[in-house]
Amino acid sequence: MPPSSDIETFQKSLASSTKVIILAGAGLSAASGIATYRGEGGLWLTNNPLELSTPEAFEKDPSRVWRFYHPRRDRCLQAEPNAAHHAIAALALPTTLARVAPSLKPDSAPPLLITQNFDSLSLRALEALPPDVREAAAERVLEMHGSAFVTRCTSCQATRRSYETPLSPALADAAALEDDCVIPVSELPRCGGPQWAGSNRYGRCGGLLRPDVVWFGEIPKHMGEIARQLNWCDLLIVVGTSSLVQPAAGFAKTVKTRGGKVAVFNLGRSSGDEDADFLFLGPCEETLPRALGIES
Ligand SMILES: [Zn+2]
Repeated sequence: MPPSSDIETFQKSLASSTKVIILAGAGLSAASGIATYRGEGGLWLTNNPLELSTPEAFEKDPSRVWRFYHPRRDRCLQAEPNAAHHAIAALALPTTLARVAPSLKPDSAPPLLITQNFDSLSLRALEALPPDVREAAAERVLEMHGSAFVTRCTSCQATRRSYETPLSPALADAAALEDDCVIPVSELPRCGGPQWAGSNRYGRCGGLLRPDVVWFGEIPKHMGEIARQLNWCDLLIVVGTSSLVQPAAGFAKTVKTRGGKVAVFNLGRSSGDEDADFLFLGPCEETLPRALGIES
C-alpha cells in the first residue's frame, strides 16, 4: 500500500501512539537559512570536509578548523527557529500533548527529538515555552551530531554550552582573516575562557577547546540511548531527511520490524518512502505544523 498523506488518519495514529520519536535532518532548518553541506551554496563546495572536519585535521591545524567553524557558529546564532521547530517545541506543552497525543506514556512525553543538526535551533525554540516545561523538554532533545554551541576541552574533556560570541577575541572576525593567517593556539578558545588565569581545575584547565560536533570518523552521540528508545517506539516521525539515508533508514527499519509506524515529512520524494506509512511532501515548516494540528 502506498503511504497515506491523509492528515486525519495521521492524527488518529498520533493520538493512539504510546511512544513517539521524532528524527530531524537538515531540512528542518532549511527555512531558517542554515546551509546544508551539499545543497545550493553548500559549504563543502568551497571547503574540503576531510581537511576541516576530522580529529586529525584539528590536531594538525586547530586555527584553520576554528576559522571554519566559528563563522558557521555565528550564522547558526543569527538564524531563528522556524514554524517546524516551534511546532515540535509546542509538543512539550501538557495542554497540546493532551490534545494531539493523549496516549503517550508519562515517560515518553514530550516525544523524544533526535536531531542530526548541530545548529541547536530545536533547543532555542524551547525558549518560547514556560520555564517549568522548558527544562524537561530540553532533556528530551538528543543532538546526535553534537552542537556548534558546545565546546569540549581537549585536555580535561569538560564540555560547556555557550551562546556567547566570539569564543576568543582572535575569532571575532574570523571570516575576514586572510587565508594564510594562523591564530596561535594560545589565542584560540581555551578551557576557562580567554581570561584563564593559570588554574588547572576541571573545566578551567587552560586546555585547547574544540567544537563538540561529531566529525568524520567519530561515533554519533547518544547511540545507546537512541537504540533503547527505538525499541518501544510505535510512531517514528522523520522530518527533513530522506528515509533512505542513514540513520533514518535504520531507525525506520527498527520501528517497522517491531510493528510501529513511520511518517516522513520531506521536501521531495526519495526511494524508500514507499515503505513509510505516511508521507507528507513539501516544506516541513508548512506540512509539519498542519499535520500535528499545531499551527500558530
Ligand atoms: Zn580543560
